[in-house]
Amino acid sequence: STMPPLLSAIANAGRHGVLTKSAVVMERLGRIDTVALDKTGTLTEGTPRLTDIRPLPGSDLDQAALLRLAASAEHPSEHPLARAVVDAARERDLLPVAAENFTSVPGEGVTAGVEGCTVQVGSPARLLVPDGLHAAVVTELEDAGKTAVVVLRDGRPVGVLGIADRLRPDAAATVAALAHLTGRTPVLLTGDNERAAKHLAAQVGITDVRAGLLPQDKVSAVRAWEAEGQRVLVVGDGVNDAPALAAAHSGIAMGKAGSDLALETADAVVVRDELATIPAVIALSRTARRLVV
Ligand code: ADP
Ligand code: MG
Repeated sequence: STMPPLLSAIANAGRHGVLTKSAVVMERLGRIDTVALDKTGTLTEGTPRLTDIRPLPGSDLDQAALLRLAASAEHPSEHPLARAVVDAARERDLLPVAAENFTSVPGEGVTAGVEGCTVQVGSPARLLVPDGLHAAVVTELEDAGKTAVVVLRDGRPVGVLGIADRLRPDAAATVAALAHLTGRTPVLLTGDNERAAKHLAAQVGITDVRAGLLPQDKVSAVRAWEAEGQRVLVVGDGVNDAPALAAAHSGIAMGKAGSDLALETADAVVVRDELATIPAVIALSRTARRLVV
């Protein structure tokens, strides 16, 4: 065709299911040296499901009471983990009770007043959890590759919930293709716990895992690589990925699970829900650049 090579590459990327926002973006994608991938919603499908309900001995709660308490506190939250808890309660016909004074902290969890008690649901590493029986359950669930969230009532741990997400079918092949294109195995950046992150990384061939990160820590990791002269591509889906998507040389958002903020901040969006289109678009960009220069 008579179309300029970069525009033709944009059209081809669109056929692969990747929307690139400009010719400049398309050109930059061909120059990346390192790829940093988010876990939940990027390497995984992003619709986590509740797998384990573990009331702690001495808590006076059975499984149904624990799940109802957690779902009541999580009800106002839009986090994928909160949706997993609320959906599981709904499937068991457990109606959440109204939560008061709901607050949420990104990368940590939620707090709300439920039936006169203060209920917290969130990361066992980030919430202030007194030593107790929950620790062994958390370790067991995390070793199995699950995300464990702890439920506290008036500051005391009363239960642990296990939540798991499916790996995308093309995750391992995409990691291999990106390693081949850049000469460097992609890195995993996640707010989730280290055990679950390593379990998943091993399944896709990633060895460099940065876990327990807050949104700002993802930015720091990207800035450190770029200070070493690496041009970084960040791939993510969440509100927690938006600052890193903006800070990186290039940012690609997963369109289907992606939050509005991630989609607005990214340079390109995977509209067809396939991770494998990312290496294909990088290859298209490189071909177009060879034709331009
Ligand atoms: P990721 O980087 O993998 O997409 P996030 O930064 O969104 O993860 O969350 C990190 C951790 O914070 C979660 O693994 C969980 O322990 C905790 N967390 C955050 N929000 C919630 C919530 N609404 N309910 C329970 N736990 C939460
Ligand atoms: Mg995510």
